[in-house]
Amino acid sequence: MKLHDGDHQFQPSERVKKKRRKSCITANTANCKYDLVRASIEANGMALLKEDSAESVSAYLHWHDSVVPFERFQALKEYQHINHFPSMGEICRKDLLARNMAKMKRARPDEFNFTPRTWNMPSEYNLLLLHAKDAKNAGKKASTFIQKPANGAMGNGIQLFRNAEKIQPSEHTIVQEYLDKPLLLDGYKMDLRLYVLITSCDPLRIFLYQDGLVRLSTEKYAKPSEHNVDQVYMHLTNYSVNKQNDKFERHSDFDRGSKRSIKSLLHHLKHAGYDTNTLWQNISDLVVKTVIVASPHLLHSYRMCRPGQSPHSASVCFEVLGFDIFLDKKLKPWLLEVNRAPSFGGDEKIDQDIKGGVLHDALNLINIRASDKRRNLAQQKSITQKRLFMHSKSRLTPDNLSATEQRKALVSQRKEQLKTKLAWLRKEAAREEFEDANMRGYKRIYPCHDKKHSERYSNLIATAFKMFQTQCAPLQRNEHYRPENEDMLIDLIEQCEIEEGLIPKSSKSLSSMPTLPPSRSGSSKHQQRSYFDTSSSSHSSSEDDEDEFLHLHKNISSARSRSRQDALKPSTNAIHRKSPRIQRKKSLEKKMDIEETLTSSSLAMYKLPLPETRLQTAPVRGSKTRNVRAPSAITAGVHRLHSPNKYLSRLVIPEPRPVKLLSQEREIERTEQTLLALQKTRIKFPGKSDVEADNTLDNIMKNWKYHKPRVASYWLVKLDSTKRQKVIDIVRNSVRIVMQKIWRSSNTDSLRLTRLFNRVFNRLHWSHGQGLWSCFTTSSNSWETILSKSTDTVTLVELNCCRRVVHLCKDCLLIVYQFANDVSDHVVKADVPGQLRPAHERYQTSQLYRRPLTEPTNPVERPGLKSFHNVPARFSRSSITTAKYHLLSSRP
Ligand code: ADP
Repeated sequence: MKLHDGDHQFQPSERVKKKRRKSCITANTANCKYDLVRASIEANGMALLKEDSAESVSAYLHWHDSVVPFERFQALKEYQHINHFPSMGEICRKDLLARNMAKMKRARPDEFNFTPRTWNMPSEYNLLLLHAKDAKNAGKKASTFIQKPANGAMGNGIQLFRNAEKIQPSEHTIVQEYLDKPLLLDGYKMDLRLYVLITSCDPLRIFLYQDGLVRLSTEKYAKPSEHNVDQVYMHLTNYSVNKQNDKFERHSDFDRGSKRSIKSLLHHLKHAGYDTNTLWQNISDLVVKTVIVASPHLLHSYRMCRPGQSPHSASVCFEVLGFDIFLDKKLKPWLLEVNRAPSFGGDEKIDQDIKGGVLHDALNLINIRASDKRRNLAQQKSITQKRLFMHSKSRLTPDNLSATEQRKALVSQRKEQLKTKLAWLRKEAAREEFEDANMRGYKRIYPCHDKKHSERYSNLIATAFKMFQTQCAPLQRNEHYRPENEDMLIDLIEQCEIEEGLIPKSSKSLSSMPTLPPSRSGSSKHQQRSYFDTSSSSHSSSEDDEDEFLHLHKNISSARSRSRQDALKPSTNAIHRKSPRIQRKKSLEKKMDIEETLTSSSLAMYKLPLPETRLQTAPVRGSKTRNVRAPSAITAGVHRLHSPNKYLSRLVIPEPRPVKLLSQEREIERTEQTLLALQKTRIKFPGKSDVEADNTLDNIMKNWKYHKPRVASYWLVKLDSTKRQKVIDIVRNSVRIVMQKIWRSSNTDSLRLTRLFNRVFNRLHWSHGQGLWSCFTTSSNSWETILSKSTDTVTLVELNCCRRVVHLCKDCLLIVYQFANDVSDHVVKADVPGQLRPAHERYQTSQLYRRPLTEPTNPVERPGLKSFHNVPARFSRSSITTAKYHLLSSRP
């Protein structure tokens, strides 16, 4: 039998197939009353399950109009999605919102000033009376107050008061200062209903729909007075209230009537000369900050509900929130409330259009795929198998496993973790790419790409988490808010592989990474090493020269490592493929890095040039000629970037000399020498002598009570993860130089002591800087536990080396803190009103921030701004090339 559909003829099997494909993604809407939700789900290619269907539990999507109990979240499988987050009530109940906002307001009054002053009843009733009394005594105009049920909606139970004393402190209500200067539209008061989509809380991802509703009151607005406070059609803008008024206007045009679109309002305001871009930016800022207030609660509850879920897996929760925003006469947005169950009903065209778009685009962005279930089942299976395998292995393994085997097992476990993290990071990049292409009516407002906003939000998140930690349960903010970068992870995996012996120490490659072509990585490494063999003789052997060489090498090698990894990533591979934005950024970084490193005329000092023939006679892979190097990614980059400069185009970078195998006694001797050298090592304070720097440190320690909260806030809050890393890197690089001198090699990475140091550095950076901070606060050296857990025995000399390194890190933090303090004082002094500093001085200040801390400085001069004017060119350049090792612009 054939079925006819116009010209097209369907075979029954085709039809069945089509139907099956369509019904793959199922949705359970038994707890949803809105047809629009169902229509949007179907429009997204999902199949609605019948209410009593046996499959409803295993549906991919669950839509609930009301709050969902915790057990529902717990019961979900990883491929399932539900349209709520646990604990969203923290910003959606009026009393909780008021409480949480008040806390944030206390911590950051400059940022959280977008909610009207609110008192929770009855507990804050006395405060309210006191406030009213103070205002009266100060001769201020009497304010109007609005009382609302804490968990109310649709304007129910709302009352206005001209006199605070008349307010009844009823349970579960809040009282708010009434905002009596609204922006009027045709003489009517209005508010905005915005739609915000949160797709994940770990990490936080927020989207703002670029349209919404403008809801107008239906009586012309007049300032609140004893005579009009009862007029709900004048003071409330709820649709549910105003639709009952005969004056409610329905209009098919979106720019007329009692319900309009936000786009039409913005258009109108723009026409009237208002700056609507700033308005929209302020609104989106308000939304991000409000969600930030909820973020620690969301994360905490999410983890409580989904204890077994890997932190790297996709979120099962998402939520479309309705934000009610009030605009005052000055166009400042105020948050009135957040709805976790915004209405998706409405019979007007505007409702269908806007709410339909909100739902349709949100469902599209969540990206539910039919394969999710299959993948999840496969994942579960592999986890179970792994567990079984591990158990049987542990049963088979004798207890007295050799130390090397134990260490290997630990390393491989660590490697697996790193790989998972790397996979997650790439998944995130892929997700971002998908979002970028599928946002439609939404715009991602967090995370944002604007560096300034991004840093500001990170600080606010840190504050929110701190507040949560001090007042609620201890919660470790996940590093996913600031994921380690891909390069760092790849390096760590490499380290693991070296330790495992999978790849030879001198020739690192990501052999076990499934998606990397070993031939390319192998060849590049091989070629780099072979070049070094021949070039080392042409190198200056003097120690001073070596220092300078190492300094340059540090920069070159980082550029090389990036280009190597770029070369390692085949663009066709789904996992390795990066979003065009990331690729652009990477290539820009690479370009800048290479330019920064290589364009300097001072290169000549480093005796690095090679004859042109080296490049031209580059060997093919596998060639026996090992003394020449093929144009690797970096040299190709140099060639591309600087082809006009012949000298630079021929530059080839030498490979570091690996440490020769030493006898045990010799190794002990060198470790002891390292300890002595480390004890002599000091962190330079720019412009100060060592004695002065020591005095500075002593002063800080003497006044530790005063400095402690400041150093804590500087280290844990003010500095973000990258800057914290830079502080630790100052010591890491100085230690590396010491090691290179003592061990007489430019490549000390494979040394046992270096590995110990790396673990210590990682530990200090651990948990958003808590690792280093706990060295200040606890009397015991908690970091030492990482060494005690090690299967290798750490000798006392090695332990002392690590202790000294920790000490240097502490000193370094204090010096950076004091340095930033001094600069900040200087800037403040120079910035007294009416004494604007000339531009060149301001420029010098910015140079001051760039000043490296480990380089020689003029010991006599105090770091007056002028003194930096005459810094030799060599140092100015290197201060730029080593920028990654120094703090640039942090002030306490
Ligand atoms: P509900 O959840 O019951 O809708 P809202 O807090 O949204 O409660 O308040 C309902 C309406 O009352 C708002 O749409 C707004 O017009 C008005 N309103 C509420 N709070 C204030 C305030 N502080 N200042 C001015 N108007 C307010």
